[in-house]
Amino acid sequence: MRSRLPVLLVVAIVAATVIAGLVVGAQRDDRSGPVDLIVLNGRVFTGAGQEPAEAVAVRGNEILRVGSNRDLKQLAGVSTTVIDAHGGTVLPGFIDGHVHFVSGGLGMDRVNLLDAESLDAIGKKIRDFAAANPDRAWVTGRGWYYSPFPGGLPTRQQLDELVPDRPAYMTAYDGHTAWANTAALKRAGITSATPDPADGIVVKDPKTGEPTGILKEAAMGLMSKVLPQPTRDDRLRAIRRASEEAGRLGITSIHEAGTGEASLALFEEVRKAGALNVRVYAALSVKDDMTEADAGAFDALRQQYAANPQIRVGAIKVMADGVIEAHTAAMLAPYANNPSTGHANYTPQELQRLVTMMDRRGWQVMTHAIGDGAVRMTLDAYDAAAKANPAPPAGRRHRVEHAETIDPADIPRFAQQHTLVSYMPFHANPTPAQLTVWTTNIGPDRSSRGWIVRTLQQAGARQVFGSDWPVVDLDPRLEINMAVTRRTAAGLPNEGWLPDQAISLERAIENMTSAGAYASFDEAKKGRLAPGLLADIVILSKDVFAQPPERFLDAVVTTTILGGKVVYERAAR
Ligand SMILES: [Zn+2]
Repeated sequence: MRSRLPVLLVVAIVAATVIAGLVVGAQRDDRSGPVDLIVLNGRVFTGAGQEPAEAVAVRGNEILRVGSNRDLKQLAGVSTTVIDAHGGTVLPGFIDGHVHFVSGGLGMDRVNLLDAESLDAIGKKIRDFAAANPDRAWVTGRGWYYSPFPGGLPTRQQLDELVPDRPAYMTAYDGHTAWANTAALKRAGITSATPDPADGIVVKDPKTGEPTGILKEAAMGLMSKVLPQPTRDDRLRAIRRASEEAGRLGITSIHEAGTGEASLALFEEVRKAGALNVRVYAALSVKDDMTEADAGAFDALRQQYAANPQIRVGAIKVMADGVIEAHTAAMLAPYANNPSTGHANYTPQELQRLVTMMDRRGWQVMTHAIGDGAVRMTLDAYDAAAKANPAPPAGRRHRVEHAETIDPADIPRFAQQHTLVSYMPFHANPTPAQLTVWTTNIGPDRSSRGWIVRTLQQAGARQVFGSDWPVVDLDPRLEINMAVTRRTAAGLPNEGWLPDQAISLERAIENMTSAGAYASFDEAKKGRLAPGLLADIVILSKDVFAQPPERFLDAVVTTTILGGKVVYERAAR
């Protein structure tokens, strides 16, 4: 007995080990494990300069394999969802590197003037909306361009004509100027005696001294106090609608550029209800005069979302200046048609203090800087932070948002600092409505250096693309098309606006996918189609690499997959 028992034990142990080994082996073996989803017959983009694949296999929320139709077809089991891409392009889900999701969703409930490029079109849209919504106490909207109006700005009398019976209030497409009618001004108590607030202008008629109806920058705050505020339910509905829209457009991740605790709680509520179709990387809006205590509260909020499967807080949003269209962007030299150099919201010392404090706490800093002066001040602040603080654990990836004008001397600094340029190429959509005021205000020399996507690429600067929705349309294809063609969706101007700045389709797609993952420190988790990464996938209706790049917009999104789950499928026509 004493000699046989150990033998039996050894046999049992060996058997158990073999069985355990078989089970483990089975889980690792593609052919026998469950594969939940396979995309076949695609032109699968695996990165610029890389060989394309044909198929992608997904297990759970991750990509299991990327390969040929023949190999991956074999992985299909009875429970596998098989999607035929019909030869269309298969891309990583689009990542919108700069968006205002809640206001975008809310805007879906107001007058939208983004596609109104003439006075007539603007008038018709406002009049139609007012007629269709007789019960609304206010008629509100957004998205008007400066150029249809003589002198670049509308007047309250023009809006009185369109909405004579109640207050009306429309913000410009860039969000930096607003247009009120007389009833709205009255409601806000704005008169000839109203002084300009700090960082804002109540525009007044030089002859009569009466307000013209135009409020610039912080002066819009005078109206916010009396505007009907969206309710909690309105905001929840806005996130749901925006989320559906994102799914339709193939967007699987967003960088919410300026938010706070209350909005994050709403995102979380929508996520818990299973209706959030995007992963959210949030940048918290900084307060004026942020203290260490405020920063501590930011740290706590970041911690609160650290383990959330879809929402993460990692950046702060700082507004260094305004916009060129309203002469509020901070320029190094005066505007071409105005003696001022614009307006920076911080002194260099204030900005350095803020950036250094948050950099030390491991925050990524996203600074809105549009004028070449603001861009330089921001780069100076990032340099100062790097000097003051030892390297943060995750590395330093601060960002300059918009960067519409950059002095040539500052171009190499982006690569030197590892600072990202966060571009919205479609802001340079070369229609008269969008670009005329911009180019007139800064003159031909500086205009010749607008959205220098290619120059920065050659200088080794990392870029990330975003839309800035609702400033412009949310559709990522428009950003890509603009970066590739430097033309409008209709192909104008024929020669392209600053065509030397066009980049390849592959690079533009990467700036709208993998670059966004890098920009939120997520490149090991998403942004490419590779095994082990999150299965965030978008399928387009055509092989966009088999046709001239200027036909990119012919392709539409047919399927959007978030973490292995189909969140959008285009209805068959
Ligand atoms: Zn923005």
